[in-house]
Amino acid sequence: MSNLPMEVLLMLGQTIEKVVPVTIVLALVFSVLSHFWACNDAVPWWRKRELITDIVYWFFVPVFARVVRIGLLVVGASLVFHIKDPDELIAFYENGHGPLAQLPLWAQAILFVVLADFMLYWLHRLFHDQLWKYHAVHHSSEELDWISAARFHPINLIIGTISVDVILLMAGISPNVMLWVGPFNTFHSAFVHANLKWTLGPFRYVLATPVFHRWHHTALEAGGDTNFAGTFPIWDILFGTFRMPANELPENYGKDEAAMPAEIVGQLAFPFRR
Ligand SMILES: [Zn+2]
Ligand SMILES: [Zn+2]
Repeated sequence: MSNLPMEVLLMLGQTIEKVVPVTIVLALVFSVLSHFWACNDAVPWWRKRELITDIVYWFFVPVFARVVRIGLLVVGASLVFHIKDPDELIAFYENGHGPLAQLPLWAQAILFVVLADFMLYWLHRLFHDQLWKYHAVHHSSEELDWISAARFHPINLIIGTISVDVILLMAGISPNVMLWVGPFNTFHSAFVHANLKWTLGPFRYVLATPVFHRWHHTALEAGGDTNFAGTFPIWDILFGTFRMPANELPENYGKDEAAMPAEIVGQLAFPFRR
């Protein structure tokens, strides 16, 4: 137990080591794309007023998610499957377990992404209906760009992404799917927040695009209460929340919570202050 802080520190180092090269690639890609296909007439992302806030989230979130995910997986295995021995734990999760782990890895990856997206659609609606004060942080970016993608309150992360990952891994899907799912999610979430006017034409109904998700970030009156899907707009089509007006682009973001502080400490405290 005594070397736990050391292990967390090590994990911090490893995660940041992975995040840095990915960030550089994303920065280059979206700088070029936004130069040619900007959705809104905005300052470039590196001149955003709240850039430091977003960068802190960008590095803090993967470390936080990783530590909490492992913690919940350990607690979950102990409570549900009565597995407490560390070696048994590793064997239990290493390549998944039960019938789902028998499927080919690509099928497990697809299943993971689809099931996670379905659960996240409803959790996202829950955050808009009952847990708004935690989700308001994500909607506070006025200069919405790819780097805003990680701006999430920890409670939002735990009840959102992390819990969904834990449920699916506990159900038996192999954590090895993360080798594909992780990079896809990172790229796709940066993509949908990027300042791009891309709708992907007919594929707008298949995959969430920047225009689709930027509509979600507009004020309630402008249509912000729509497009809850993270990856597949099919959920919004099925449940009546899809909105992508033809020949119109979203603009004006982050107007739902005027009292939201601009820096991270104030944002983390925001839900508990009201
Ligand atoms: Zn939202
Ligand atoms: Zn968003």
